[in-house]
Amino acid sequence: MLRASPVRRVVLVVLDGLRPDAIPRFGLGELSALAQRGAHTMLGRTVTPSVTACAMASLLTGAAPERHGLQCDRFHLPRPTGALHPLPRLLAAQGLPSSAFLATMPVLFSGIAQRIAAHLGITQAQFRGRDCEEILDAARTTLREQTRGLIVMHWPDADRAGHAHGWMSDAYATAARRMDSTLGALVTQLNLEESGTLLVALADHGGGGAVPDHHNSEHPLDRTIPIILAGGAVRRGDIPPGASLLDVPATVCWALGVPRPESFAGRALVEAFHALPVGVAA
Ligand SMILES: [Zn+2]
Repeated sequence: MLRASPVRRVVLVVLDGLRPDAIPRFGLGELSALAQRGAHTMLGRTVTPSVTACAMASLLTGAAPERHGLQCDRFHLPRPTGALHPLPRLLAAQGLPSSAFLATMPVLFSGIAQRIAAHLGITQAQFRGRDCEEILDAARTTLREQTRGLIVMHWPDADRAGHAHGWMSDAYATAARRMDSTLGALVTQLNLEESGTLLVALADHGGGGAVPDHHNSEHPLDRTIPIILAGGAVRRGDIPPGASLLDVPATVCWALGVPRPESFAGRALVEAFHALPVGVAA
């Protein structure tokens, strides 16, 4: 049974490689405005290792990398070390759909990517677009029509520029600004004043900490991420210190009224919401 919740759908945007300090440094006004109107932390933590495949797997399974088994930056079907309850599967069990929109993949990987998506219980996975603007375009119809469940977007721009030119380089700034204006376009499309949609924007890792053009290390610049929640159900303010990427899937479950499974490593960020619906453990 779904607990009654004002949140009917969650739109989750992964800003690949976006360091929190890029927001003030490059004047990313849409992200600043979203953080101010919602709940946010610029001191969130990502998983170890701090690479996209591990972070995405953690977002979609709620489990830490040592449990979901994907511990390098290469997408494959991993061997978990414990039972997994992927978020899209949990939602599907309650009749809620999940859609995912990512960049176009090389043909070689598109088969495995679709298999991973199906394995996770994602109802619709599209790999279409070169950058965040094109990925948002690919998602527009779904954003209009899918009013329940989960819509995930992965935007690759800042990470790509960071690998090619270094984190915080001019090219990185250009990519970060493109992500920022695309986020603004997304916010315009969503009606965040009403409480039915919860928008979550976060990075999967930082970069330029240990080495200028990578992000896989324990360095705080590689490990620290922005986490922003916005929407009518969200209470404006700071997300307490210590929040982690692993808290995001638990928060999605909680917001949609779906019980959190034991395999989830994080906790729901209940302080970020106005009402505390009863009956579901955070
Ligand atoms: Zn990367």
